[in-house]
Amino acid sequence: MKVGVPKESLAGERRVALVPEAARGLVKGGLEVAVEAGAGAAAFFSDALYMDAGAKVTDAATALGSDAVLKVQPPTPDDVGRLRAGAVLISFLQPATNADVVAALAKQKVSAFSLDLVPRISRAQSMDALSSQAGIAGYKSVLLAANHLPKFFPLLMTAAGTVAPARVLVMGAGVAGLQAIATSRRLGAVVEAYDVRPAVKDEVHSLGATFLELPLEAQEGTGGYAREQSEDFLRRQRELIGDRVAASDVVITTAAIPGRPAPKLIPAAAVRAMRPGSVIVDLAAETGGNCELTRPGEEIVECGVSIVGFTNLPSTMPTHASQLYARNVAALLTHLAPEGELKLDFTDEITAGACVTRKEQAA
Ligand code: NAD
Repeated sequence: MKVGVPKESLAGERRVALVPEAARGLVKGGLEVAVEAGAGAAAFFSDALYMDAGAKVTDAATALGSDAVLKVQPPTPDDVGRLRAGAVLISFLQPATNADVVAALAKQKVSAFSLDLVPRISRAQSMDALSSQAGIAGYKSVLLAANHLPKFFPLLMTAAGTVAPARVLVMGAGVAGLQAIATSRRLGAVVEAYDVRPAVKDEVHSLGATFLELPLEAQEGTGGYAREQSEDFLRRQRELIGDRVAASDVVITTAAIPGRPAPKLIPAAAVRAMRPGSVIVDLAAETGGNCELTRPGEEIVECGVSIVGFTNLPSTMPTHASQLYARNVAALLTHLAPEGELKLDFTDEITAGACVTRKEQAA
């Protein structure tokens, strides 16, 4: 089986779907790996490293024309046109917001698997790219906050006096939020966190943060996710958490509901009640933002408060983001092709769950 790794074409995307170490593993397993020249360059993986790993360095057409194509971002319409009928594509596809790409893949008779649909069951943990990339976003959000904050994070006792530690509030304690808590604690901040799923309370405590107890009903959905909350619930949450937002130096928001716009947790009035110099890093910017004033992809200052709405933070740490992503992709590919040849078993929960289009179902 031939595996192709095209260069990512989306502006600002620096990750690559397969790093040389993962390519070596696939080659050892009997697969042929074709990597487009320069595909790993932005993540600091040279063509020479891929060749050392036993991969071939090729052009875009060869990489896209392989039996299995590995990508990070959904393919462009042009890319889809260059995929072979009957090929397998593994990528982030976000089918709920990319109906055109899904339709084009079906028309092209491609069997496409989306990493964001891999069920979050223990057996599929090695394929959980949502988690590997969310962990990076959580870590980076804290570094961005520390960089913008005109204060130290840790408590300092110096000859020139004592410096109080920064107070960090994390809203949403899923994968990204927990990593943001851990990173803030390592930098010495005093951290509190809130999530609508009380199940995360113990994890928050184990990282040395306080879990905010609000008199609100739990909003536990299925599969470990939150369910969508009513406008009345969100209004009460905003009221109850307003004083904690105002008391914080840094607020990191990660609240999300799969497939839905991000819940609005910080209205403009709450931003204005924060001390000038405070920082909000809104990890939900891509789905509209948890803060009313967030501008996706931008950083702004409102009444002295920095609001950072950068998207695709994993791409800003492309080496490790690609390394972890590649392990997830290689694990899913090995699942779909256990003996080095594709054997798609749609009675399997992972294969069926991650599948977006099947060559047999093409329109
Ligand atoms: P996510 O990105 O969908 O959401 C982030 C967090 O926002 C969630 O914890 C959610 O409860 C929270 N949230 C939603 N609305 C909120 C609100 N109004 N206020 C505060 N918080 C709000 O979720 P995620 O980080 O991808 O994962 C969530 C959970 O999924 C994990 O904590 C875990 O339980 C489960 N999970 C399981 C596995 C596995 O078993 N392999 C892997 C990863 C995650």
